Amino acid sequence: MTVLVVGGGIAGLVAARTAAARGQSVTVIEADAVLGGSVRAVDLAGVPIDIGAESVATKGAGALELIAALGLETTPPRRGGAWLQTAQGAVPLPAAGVLGIPSVPLADDVRAAIGTRAAIRAYLDTVRPELRVGKQETLGSLVARRMGRRVLDVLVRPVVEGVYGVDPEDADADALAPGLTTALARAGSLAGAVATLRSNAPAGAAVAGIVGGVHRLVSALEAELRRSGVRILTDTGVTAMQRVGGGWRLTTSRAENETGGTAEGFVDGEHVVVATGGAAARGLLAPHLPSGLVEGWPSGRASTVVALAVDEPRLDAAPRGTGVLVAEPAPGTASALTHSTAKWPWLAESLPSGRHIVRLTYRGRVPDVTASRAVADASRIFGFPLGPKSIVGTAQQVWEQDAPRALIGVDERIPLIRAAVTEVPELTVTGAWLSGTGLAAVIADAGSLGS
Ligand SMILES: Cc1cc2nc3c(=O)[nH]c(=O)nc-3n(C[C@H](O)[C@H](O)[C@H](O)COP(=O)(O)OP(=O)(O)OC[C@H]3O[C@@H](n4cnc5c(N)ncnc54)[C@H](O)[C@@H]3O)c2cc1C
Repeated sequence: MTVLVVGGGIAGLVAARTAAARGQSVTVIEADAVLGGSVRAVDLAGVPIDIGAESVATKGAGALELIAALGLETTPPRRGGAWLQTAQGAVPLPAAGVLGIPSVPLADDVRAAIGTRAAIRAYLDTVRPELRVGKQETLGSLVARRMGRRVLDVLVRPVVEGVYGVDPEDADADALAPGLTTALARAGSLAGAVATLRSNAPAGAAVAGIVGGVHRLVSALEAELRRSGVRILTDTGVTAMQRVGGGWRLTTSRAENETGGTAEGFVDGEHVVVATGGAAARGLLAPHLPSGLVEGWPSGRASTVVALAVDEPRLDAAPRGTGVLVAEPAPGTASALTHSTAKWPWLAESLPSGRHIVRLTYRGRVPDVTASRAVADASRIFGFPLGPKSIVGTAQQVWEQDAPRALIGVDERIPLIRAAVTEVPELTVTGAWLSGTGLAAVIADAGSLGS
């Protein structure tokens, strides 16, 4: 069986590994010059750092098993926690929550973040009966109704926007936190539901990093695929898929033996795995699925990551823990900061003393974030000025992200697409747009194809 895997992100690489392990003859076709998709390394002051995904959720065994099988070592983030930047100043991010929703509304850390008045409003959740259980409602509306707008705007929105790239007022509560509305019905309050979800969650850190960076997953997968004889074509976008005989003919943006040319090429195979991002996948799949199924999909959004290498010994004390989420950021300013060297000890150890890596995230496509803007944002968040001379390197990447599954109206379309794909001979589809955002979900889905 010859298998063509379209897209060389983590989903495509894992699908290729699964197919190769079955003895199939596999070709990975990747549009970009490098493999990895949203997992990518950039060189910053001479060190490769993650400019995309930088951690893996530890729930579910698939991702951790894969990382171990590839000979890579996982590591928990350093304890010390994240902070929240509010209009009033920086406070530790309240600890006992889910998606930023507190389980103890009157806890000291919640009061410090939203003020006592808003915390008392949130506490009303625990004494008012829940009368609307079962009615479809967005996460934002649920939180505002039960706990008030301050909880939504200051605690929940930064987490949900930052992690899932979706406005909570457009998000399906159960797609983001499976079981939340059922637990709400049982517990009678949102705080009680959050406490239930937390008590059901496995103990230990929810995420892990990879020593050396998550991008090592890509190089390790690539090396293993090459050892298994998998053919890898980069700089080769697939522009169309056609059923030919019992298999497929893919039209590619570049003929295989073209170097630097733009001539179209064709690659034939018996089975196709579509593992691109959602927009590209839907374009390729549309002619093969019932009409209306992939058309009219909600659009995604972009984000921009700026990484700074800074020589600043005052950061040795990790004044904002492992990072900061910014509540209600002013337009054009950073919505989150990760203090990477505080979060990942192996990274700090790989750098000269006093050197730090700081990653800032901006909502939207901001290709012109200047280094001075990023430095000003980082200075405001850390609470002291980073001098221009302390900056020893900058790197930047704009990410186009697909509409996440948590966006209202998306989740219910996924089973329909999966069912329609099973009707098309010799076709499988995987990737974050179907499995859900995040490496753990992507790896679990791509690793189980055909099983
Ligand atoms: C900034 C950022 C930070 C993140 N942080 C984390 C994190 O810390 N932890 C976590 O678990 N997740 C994180 N994620 C999410 C995670 O990275 C993704 O869910 C996951 O990597 C998606 O993998 P994928 O293979 O489905 O898609 P992608 O990574 O998008 O890969 C798709 C691939 O298909 C290629 N392609 C597209 N069109 C074509 C075509 N026509 N022909 C051929 N190839 C094509 C693309 O070039 C790309 O390489 C982050 C994402 C971003 C953007």
